[in-house]
Amino acid sequence: KSDIKNRKEGFWRLSKLGVPLSKDPGKDFVGVSPPLLEAIAKVLEFPVASMLPQEAFSIVRKSFDARKLLKEPEFVYTVDMDVKQLLELEPRTWDFIDRLEYKVGQVEYMPIVGSGPSGLFACLVLVELGAEVTLIERGQPVEQRGRDIGALVARRILQSDSNFCFGEGGAGTWSDGKLVTRIGRNSDSVQAVMKTLVRFGAPIDILIDGKPHLGTDRLIPLLRNFRHHLEELGVILKFSTRMDDLIVENKNVLGVKVSNVRQDPGSGSYNLFYDAVVLAVGHSARDVYQMLLHHNVGLIPKDFAVGLRIEHPQELINSMQYSALAAEVREGRGKVPVADYKLVKYVGEGNSDTSSDSGDQTRSCYSFCMCPGGQVVLTSTDPSELCINGMSFSRRASRWANAAVVVTVSSNDFDAFKCHGPLAGVEFQREFEKQAALMGGGSFVVPAQTVTDFLDNKLSVTSLPPSSYRLGVKAANLHNLYPASITQALQHSISMFDKELPGFISKDALLHGVETRTSAPLKISRHSDTYESTSLNRLYPTGEGAGYAGGIVSAAVDGMYCGFALAKKLNLFQGDI
Ligand code: FAD
Repeated sequence: KSDIKNRKEGFWRLSKLGVPLSKDPGKDFVGVSPPLLEAIAKVLEFPVASMLPQEAFSIVRKSFDARKLLKEPEFVYTVDMDVKQLLELEPRTWDFIDRLEYKVGQVEYMPIVGSGPSGLFACLVLVELGAEVTLIERGQPVEQRGRDIGALVARRILQSDSNFCFGEGGAGTWSDGKLVTRIGRNSDSVQAVMKTLVRFGAPIDILIDGKPHLGTDRLIPLLRNFRHHLEELGVILKFSTRMDDLIVENKNVLGVKVSNVRQDPGSGSYNLFYDAVVLAVGHSARDVYQMLLHHNVGLIPKDFAVGLRIEHPQELINSMQYSALAAEVREGRGKVPVADYKLVKYVGEGNSDTSSDSGDQTRSCYSFCMCPGGQVVLTSTDPSELCINGMSFSRRASRWANAAVVVTVSSNDFDAFKCHGPLAGVEFQREFEKQAALMGGGSFVVPAQTVTDFLDNKLSVTSLPPSSYRLGVKAANLHNLYPASITQALQHSISMFDKELPGFISKDALLHGVETRTSAPLKISRHSDTYESTSLNRLYPTGEGAGYAGGIVSAAVDGMYCGFALAKKLNLFQGDI
């Protein structure tokens, strides 16, 4: 719209033109009906509707709205207006165009907050069903986000709104891009997500591969294609735009307050009104959790897992898994895929696997988010905190294999650490992220210890084995990080993993601290059928940050269902969800 501003030509889009059910001519009528012309004239503030030339208008979308119980149901139209044609045919509208510009600026679009997998898929469903959507993202589009991540890795500059967690595509962009999921690989919903990814550029073999994987280099162009498709459908994308607050009246969400994060604080703040808000902010948006608490939104602490990230030479994992066949791997170019692993154990009371004191509760211990041929990366969003994860490129050709080794934590652990209330899990995470930053000595240097020294509880005094982590590692005793019960559970599970995968305990294996953001530490309570928040009407929490998904595919599926549920509420969709 800004392009055609003051040019008095091109197409202008007029939205939310209501025609009451009783006046609408129905399906058989082709073109712009007199009642629709009246609605257009009202927006243009043009006095005589019948004098407006119908040829200048074309219908883009028509949907039925029966939501407002006290009002007659109506059809809602979106119409494109050919400004030049209108002025040629009806020069008297000239005076009204300036006013129209003002009106166009007032058009309301539904805000979807967050462009991670859940936000993108909610957006896709809603816009394809006819909703008008604004996608709000605090971070940058992938092109600029790539530069910001480059500056982080090369010059230690952390942009608080554009990093490994925040930006187009969400946390899943600079990731390993594994598309494995525990929610049923062959279910229709997972297949729908996979096919959509193929449509936007993912290789077709992800539909049949037992362990589908994309890698960051494939995710970036895929997201660009996704963005272009949404733009073509009329979605307004607002990057560098952070939702700071919800606008709430009598427990109804009326819209969001947003600000431009690349302008001076406060200078770019404004409100966006709409009768529904999709919240797809991921689990690192701690400011959003705090804001929700302020509005008394139901937040329920939930179990998650914390631990360390272990890194081995990839060759070692290949030989552990493949023996002689390891020579065939050839850095991802051969037929034999780069080897990975997945390990799970239980430690604690009454479990035959337990021989050491791992505290008084049963814990699952497992490897998580294993990245063969990948690298360890910084996923902090605040410079005073330090947490890590793993990413890879499509060929998985790096020299290293990393994975989180984590144990489950629950309210018992939060209580023991004096972390209480709905944000107990967040405080618990933050505690160890701050401690890790201190132990690393600042500048995002990660505290590290060889596996053998961690098992022996002694500082690694000889030089550490090389690490893929680009911002540096510092020898530290990682026993000083977590409470003893968690540390012992980690020690014990590593010993058990070595029994399953002999060689896992190796002098070349390095532990990095900390891995704390394995999944959301809380759930934003919502109705299971409508996906609407149980605390605020018109708020639709979705994805990993809301506690309903873990991983790229499950977040996308949850966003998709949330989109359908909201479309149903808006009468854009009548089917079953
Ligand atoms: P997110 O992807 O976190 O997206 C939330 C978005 O909301 C972000 O873009 C954020 O900038 C935006 N946002 C937050 N607050 C605001 C606000 N106030 N205003 C505006 N925008 C806001 N999963 C896998 O399945 N496979 C993997 O291989 C894998 N590897 C990973 C590697 C790394 C390094 C990381 C960090 C994660 C990885 N994950 C992986 C996890 C996966 O990325 C997440 O499960 C998934 O992205 C969650 O999707 P989401 O849409 O719920 O949230």
